[in-house]
Amino acid sequence: MLNGKTAIITGAGRGIGRAIALEFIKYGAKVVVNYRNSIKQVEELLETIREAGGEAIAVQADISKEEEAKQLVDAAVKHFGRLDILVNNAGITKDTLMMRMSEDDFSSVIDINLKGTFFCMKHASNVMLKQRSGKIINLSSVVGITGNAGQVNYAASKAGVIGMTKSAARELAIRGITVNAVAPGFIQTEMTDVLPEKIKEATVANIPLKRFGAANEVAGAVSFLASEAANYITGQVLQVDGGMVM
Ligand code: NAP
Repeated sequence: MLNGKTAIITGAGRGIGRAIALEFIKYGAKVVVNYRNSIKQVEELLETIREAGGEAIAVQADISKEEEAKQLVDAAVKHFGRLDILVNNAGITKDTLMMRMSEDDFSSVIDINLKGTFFCMKHASNVMLKQRSGKIINLSSVVGITGNAGQVNYAASKAGVIGMTKSAARELAIRGITVNAVAPGFIQTEMTDVLPEKIKEATVANIPLKRFGAANEVAGAVSFLASEAANYITGQVLQVDGGMVM
């Protein structure tokens, strides 16, 4: 499905990003695994990929810094000669009620989730425009559609990702580049492991499929949007949420 394609996945050392990297390898892509801190997990992931006969490199970059986002794209092109797919997966939460939210809680989430996605799209699309092809998939969240108490910063960033996805889709369509978002609901990763048991139970009660999603279930949707099967899909938001928001 992704044979011969080269992909960058941001924040791919763990969680959903890791699952996307493994899914892409399974479908024949060459992968650039980006990370900020998770060096140990990344080394293990590279080993797993090698054992599976896949090809991958790891590039450390804090995507909230434009120069580092550019270096990430440059490293991918230098190593693999081209760039077909960018998955903007890196993201953080800093949940608290608005009354208690500091400026740093707000801006650090915006800097990584929104500005980081912008920086990576900007530099990757520069390469894709010259190639006249490319696929960009941005991780949003159902919270960016519905809002959520305690997540004013995160919801703003993920709603922003949707607006940015649609705008970039319009800008880049002329050169055959598609830009879509995937909006997961509650997926079992380190990001959601920290939630109190009571909140988890209340959340599951509101999910028609009555369970949290798995990271590889998000990876499946991302792989579809990265594949040629999705050539005529752009500017869309694909929810992977067990029916939570409909
Ligand atoms: P996670 O397990 O907390 O992993 C987050 C990843 O982002 C880590 O690999 C981390 O890398 C990376 N990252 C954070 N800041 C970074 C930076 N400045 N530069 C580069 N990488 C950075 O989260 P997850 O659950 O897999 O979530 C992945 C994406 O899905 C996020 O965008 C999240 O908002 C979105 N999402 C998740 C859920 C969910 O229920 N889990 C729901 C909706 C949307 P290091 O470890 O190297 O720092």
